[in-house]
Amino acid sequence: MSEFIEKIKAAGIVGAGGAGFPTHMKLDCKAETLIINAIECEPLLRTDRYVCETYADSIVKAVQAMKEAVQAEKAVIAIKEHYTDAVAALKKAVSGTDIELYLSESFYPAGDEQNLVFSITGKTVPTGGIPLDVGCVVSNVSTALNIAQALEGRPVTDKFVTVSGSVANPVVVSCPIGTPLNELLKAAGGAEGDCTFIVGGPLMGRITDDLSEPVTKTTGGLLAIPKGHRLLSKKNESAREATLARAVCCQCSMCTQMCPRNAMGLDVQPHKAMRAFASGNEKLLGSLNGIFSCCDCGLCTYYACNFGLHPSKAMQRVKTALQKDGIKAVKQVKNSPDPGFSNKRVPTGRLLARLDLTQYDRPASFAGRVIPDEVRIPLRMHIGGPDKPVVRPGDSVSRGQVIAVPEGMGAVIHASVCGVVTDVGNEIRIRRT
Ligand code: SF4
Ligand code: SF4
Repeated sequence: MSEFIEKIKAAGIVGAGGAGFPTHMKLDCKAETLIINAIECEPLLRTDRYVCETYADSIVKAVQAMKEAVQAEKAVIAIKEHYTDAVAALKKAVSGTDIELYLSESFYPAGDEQNLVFSITGKTVPTGGIPLDVGCVVSNVSTALNIAQALEGRPVTDKFVTVSGSVANPVVVSCPIGTPLNELLKAAGGAEGDCTFIVGGPLMGRITDDLSEPVTKTTGGLLAIPKGHRLLSKKNESAREATLARAVCCQCSMCTQMCPRNAMGLDVQPHKAMRAFASGNEKLLGSLNGIFSCCDCGLCTYYACNFGLHPSKAMQRVKTALQKDGIKAVKQVKNSPDPGFSNKRVPTGRLLARLDLTQYDRPASFAGRVIPDEVRIPLRMHIGGPDKPVVRPGDSVSRGQVIAVPEGMGAVIHASVCGVVTDVGNEIRIRRT
């Protein structure tokens, strides 16, 4: 293992923008193209652009080290062109280097990893594959920032999070990992009205009413959405879903026609999943393999279907059932990319209007570091099993000290504050001193 990979491993870095894949494993490879994803795929979130505006030089330093480590011919930082301050900061930071900027239009899901690979290289990541299958490695920009800090010997202890939606003042904050969400909400001046909360972005985030839940290494946003808002009813599972699919889905196939993964040449056909779901006849599913390429972006549900149906949920339901039955995806790109691919892009503004969220698309200023009295650090913040704690109740710990280590696939966990360990279970509680 190279010294570079050792440093990333020791710092406990996982993908900051996704499912938490350990970064030391992802970067232990050779690739032609390194792509840094600063697109911030989900509307309303402002974290990536803040990180780029503020830490452009550190990010570029990390990208140079990453490029060298994976022996890439090309390194590209992808960002939306209308993030003007962030673009200006990055342009200045990359000048005199061989790192390129890719300026994207604002559409959804521009920041989907496979969409980005396709937009930058013209290559389709196969069903059942990863970007490395087409010579690419993709890392989130906050992951790059964590790498910059790891190269200086600093582990992951903090997270940047956007707090927005129906709040007094949308903000970006930094906070120790394990900070309860309600502390973040306070930094935004609290929720306005009776709200339900989404952890993550409006489309792919999940609903929670438990604001004592802690921030993890992958938390990117907290949104307050007034109860009764149509986004919430769309996100909540409907007991009438099957009945509606049966009665209303006219098999117009608009969900499939607008599916970005389908447009890249993958055999993703949500209208067939709806057909099978409505009839209860799985023979009508069509190609099973294509189902594995659905990234759950939700575009078919939140935008394409004019009848308000939930094709993305039908896809996820089938995908889970296939996985449960032990069926694995076969690496394949079924079709040629749709020549009309770029015409099918849904502008973010139109998506927000459709979801009745335009009023919440507001700037978010940086509100500093939120420091709670107690943190609850989950032992599972990454792909793989939970880490094994190496501290006990009563132990004093300092910020950055190792408190849990992976037993298999995973990443080291560090204390995010100085304090005393008060409890060790599925999470480690530390009371600040
Ligand atoms: S789910 Fe909606 S968009 Fe898809 S085929 Fe049915 S009616 Fe058409
Ligand atoms: S959620 Fe819908 S639009 Fe998105 S990839 Fe899956 S089928 Fe396609």
